[in-house]
Amino acid sequence: MKKFYKKSHAEKIKTLKATKAISNEDYHLLKNDQLNLPTELADRMIENYILNYDLPLGLAMNFIIDEEKTLIPMVTEEPSVIAAASNAGKIVAQSTGFHTEMDERLVIGQIVLKNVDHPDQAALKLKEKSEKILELANAAHPSILNYGGGAKRIETRVIAADPIYHNPEFFVLHLIVDTSEAMGANIVNTMTEAISAYIINLIGGESLMNILSNYATESVVKAACLINPKDLSTETMDGEKVRDRIIEASQYAKVDPYRAVTNNKGIMNGIDALLVATGNDSRAVEAGAHAYAARDGQYRALTNWSKDKNGYLKGKIELPISIGSVGGTLSVHPTAQFSYRILKQPSANELSRILAAVGLAQNLAALKAIVTDGIQKGHMNLQARALAIRVGAEAQNIDRVAEKLQDAEYKNSETAKKILFEILKEDQDG
Ligand code: NDP
Repeated sequence: MKKFYKKSHAEKIKTLKATKAISNEDYHLLKNDQLNLPTELADRMIENYILNYDLPLGLAMNFIIDEEKTLIPMVTEEPSVIAAASNAGKIVAQSTGFHTEMDERLVIGQIVLKNVDHPDQAALKLKEKSEKILELANAAHPSILNYGGGAKRIETRVIAADPIYHNPEFFVLHLIVDTSEAMGANIVNTMTEAISAYIINLIGGESLMNILSNYATESVVKAACLINPKDLSTETMDGEKVRDRIIEASQYAKVDPYRAVTNNKGIMNGIDALLVATGNDSRAVEAGAHAYAARDGQYRALTNWSKDKNGYLKGKIELPISIGSVGGTLSVHPTAQFSYRILKQPSANELSRILAAVGLAQNLAALKAIVTDGIQKGHMNLQARALAIRVGAEAQNIDRVAEKLQDAEYKNSETAKKILFEILKEDQDG
C-alpha cells in the first residue's frame, strides 16, 4: 500500500487485490465500473427519481484501530479530507493506534403526551407496568428478539410548561430498545406507535407524537490515542511545541463556540464520509453529535487533547453514534455493500467505534495543520486539481496545471487560467 496515492487508478485497484484488501470478485467489479447504483434500484429508493449524483469514494490509509489494520472507505467531495485522515492515521499508528469503547448501543423512542393530570402518579403506574409495556413493544416487531435485541427498559420525563415558548407541560415516555444490528428508526417508530394507546389507557392524557429520538445518548462511543511528540514535528517546529499548540487549540475549542463549530465540522468531515460510504444516515448522526456537543448548555468541541505524564499527546473523542450494519440504504446500495466488505463486515458496534476513531484522526490532522503551517498550505495543494478542472483543463493538462499551481504564490482561478493558457500555447507552438 506504500505511496498508494501516487499510483494510477488501475495500479490502485491491482494493489488492493494483491494485498487481499479486496476479493477477486470486487477487483473485477471495480475494474469494470460495476459497483454503482443501478437505475432500477435508485428509482425504487426515492420518489421522483431522475438520475444518480456521483461522489468519489476513496480510501484512508494507515489506520490501526483496536490493534486491527483498517482501510477506511470515505465518500467526500472535499479534496484533502482523505489525505488528512491518512496522515493522522499514520502519526497515531507510529505510537499506540486508536483504542475505542462502546458499552451499549440502544435507541430511544419517545411517546409524547400532553394533559397528563398527575405526572408523578403516571410515572409510578408506568414503572409498575413496565414489563407489560416492553412485551407489547416487542410484540410489534417480534423478529428483533430473534436478532438478540428488543425493548429493554422505560424511563419517564416531564418537560415543564414554558411561557417563552407557550408550550404546555409534556409527559414523555422513553422506550429504550436494543435494535441489534439495525439503526432501528423503523423498528422503534413501529414500537412507539404500537404502545401509545396502551399508555394513554393507563395514565390518561392526549397523544402528540410517537417517534425515535436522534439524540442517541444510549449509543455513546469513545476513541482515544497517545502520540509521541517526536512524530508531530514539522520542518519548522519541534514536536513538543506542536503538541503544546494542539492542546491550546483544543482548550480554545472547548470555550469558544465559534471555534467549536469549526472544530466539530472537521471531525464530521471524516465521520460523514464514512457514514455515506457505508449507506448510513449521516443526518441522524450529525444532529445527535451537535446536540451532544452542547450537552452542558454551551456548544463545545467533541474532542479533547492533553498531555500524559510521559509527555505524550493524549487525544479523546466522545459522541453518540446511531448507525446500522443491516437495513436502510445498505440493503440495496452496491457501493455501500462494497464499503462494508472493505471494512471486513464490521458489526454496528464495531463500525461505531471505527467512526469515532476516524473523527479523532480528522481532528488531529486539522489541528496539527492549523497550529503549524496553517490550513491553506496542504489544503490548496490538494485543491489545485479541482481548480485546474474548474478553469477548463482536461485530461493530462489537469495534472500539469495543478503541478505549476503548487509553486504559485496565489493559488486561485486567475492564476490557474494563466497557467492553462501558457500550457495550451506551449503545446500549440511546439
Ligand atoms: P430497516 O427497517 O431498513 O432495517 C431493519 C431491519 O433489518 C429489521 O427490521 C430486520 O428486518 C432486518 N434485520 C436483519 N438482520 C438484523 C439484525 N441482525 N438486527 C436487526 N435487524 C435485522 O431500517 P431501520 O429500522 O434500521 O431504520 C433505518 C432507516 O430508517 C434508515 O434508512 C434511516 O434513514 C431511516 N429513518 C430515519 C429516521 C430518523 O433518523 N429520524 C426516521 C425514519 C426513518 P426483519 O425483522 O424483517 O428481518
